[in-house]
Amino acid sequence: MSDEVVTRFAPSPTGFLHIGGARTALFNWLFARHAGGRMLLRIEDTDRERSTDAAIAAILDGLSWLGLQWDGDVIYQFQRAERHREVVYSLLEKGHAYHCYATPQELEEMRELARKEGRPPRYDGRWRDRPASEAPSDVKPVVRLKAPRDGETVLDDKVQGRVTWANKDLDDLVLLRSDGTPTYMLAVVVDDHDMGVTQIIRGDDHLTNAARQMQIYQALGWQVPSMAHIPLIHGADGAKLSKRHGALGVDAYRGMGYLPEALRNYLVRLGWSQGDKEFFSTEEMIAAFDLANVGRSPARFDFAKLENMNGHYLRHADDAYLVETLTATLPHLPNKPVLPLEFTPERKAQLLAAMPGLKERAKTLVELLDGAQFLFAKRPLMLDAKAQALLDDKAREHIGALLPLFTACAEWKAEPLEAIVRGYVAETGVKLGQVAQPLRAALTGRATSPGIFDVLEVLGREEGLGRLLDQASGA
Ligand code: GLU
Repeated sequence: MSDEVVTRFAPSPTGFLHIGGARTALFNWLFARHAGGRMLLRIEDTDRERSTDAAIAAILDGLSWLGLQWDGDVIYQFQRAERHREVVYSLLEKGHAYHCYATPQELEEMRELARKEGRPPRYDGRWRDRPASEAPSDVKPVVRLKAPRDGETVLDDKVQGRVTWANKDLDDLVLLRSDGTPTYMLAVVVDDHDMGVTQIIRGDDHLTNAARQMQIYQALGWQVPSMAHIPLIHGADGAKLSKRHGALGVDAYRGMGYLPEALRNYLVRLGWSQGDKEFFSTEEMIAAFDLANVGRSPARFDFAKLENMNGHYLRHADDAYLVETLTATLPHLPNKPVLPLEFTPERKAQLLAAMPGLKERAKTLVELLDGAQFLFAKRPLMLDAKAQALLDDKAREHIGALLPLFTACAEWKAEPLEAIVRGYVAETGVKLGQVAQPLRAALTGRATSPGIFDVLEVLGREEGLGRLLDQASGA
């Protein structure tokens, strides 16, 4: 047997790829990459009622956006039903499984009895050892696992440590329903085995399933993969993660303007750590990731931290990359920008030139886009209330006085333009802010923007002078 590490991410396509699922995928991906192995993707679509193509598309899209590329083809669990059935037949043959003819009414009686006796409901094994000759002809049986009744099932979990279940508390679970469809519990085991999975990493809501699954492995004589059940993510207040806390689809984070690398960095730190180190490049993450440093208590999701991390990534990102990312993010923004944003080559060139100033002031791509609105605005500009307040009579006079000086500027660059303004304030004795703020208001329609001389340069001579002229008096 090869000792290649194989992990898998196995989402159920009953909803979008939520943030907890994304982190599970990330951990699987990092574990595999760290070991030079593979991460496989299995879509657990056996629940035909609740699985949708839209959810599958959202999962594939979300993983791709996050840069979590799986290896090989996507495996669809439902397509493997025949193989799952074969495995059940082999268990029947070996006597490790049996037909159970208990009726829904009998099962209900067992549940009722358990309730009365104050213990968890459990199938009582009444068909475990009954001969086939006693089978009623009018009941379609299910197939159950003949699980061990004594002893313990023990899991040495890579995160939870040793977990023990008394076998008497685990009943004979159904492997094949009466209509011949395999159960989820069986399908997971057969698929993980057939896919050669060596390490399972998933949420700790699957911990009790692990005991059941181990019993199936044992009945089949298959090696149980190593398991790691990671604590779920909670909200910043410690309560179970809800929509309010950020239990949203990955696409929603994209729409909020987070960079995939920032979200990835934020997610890896949710439940895993290496000392106090906060920022990890992809290579660093891959090199450092291990299960030993996954914590046992639930991680807390904190939007403010994610936003700060995103701001860090924005400030350090390459300008051209940001222009492209911004363009690609536009269709994912839930709220359409106020202005029609035409990303013409000229506009993109301006965006690139303005980027150093823009990215300093933004924590998300949405804020970045908001800061860049002035590039897309058409003359005469709509001024917001603060900008209007800045443009009083005095301010308009300053603009009027500066206009001929700017017009005479030989080279339309931030430096000479700044020199003109500095010369003007020195001569007139007004404060720089008293001139710069009105310029900002006239050029961007707002009271905040990147450095005003950069704004002038980026807008270009014609547009810059035009916008000033629109607001000047006595020009
Ligand atoms: N399909 C399960 C889920 O989405 C995961 C099963 C597993 O990882 O074993 O929760």
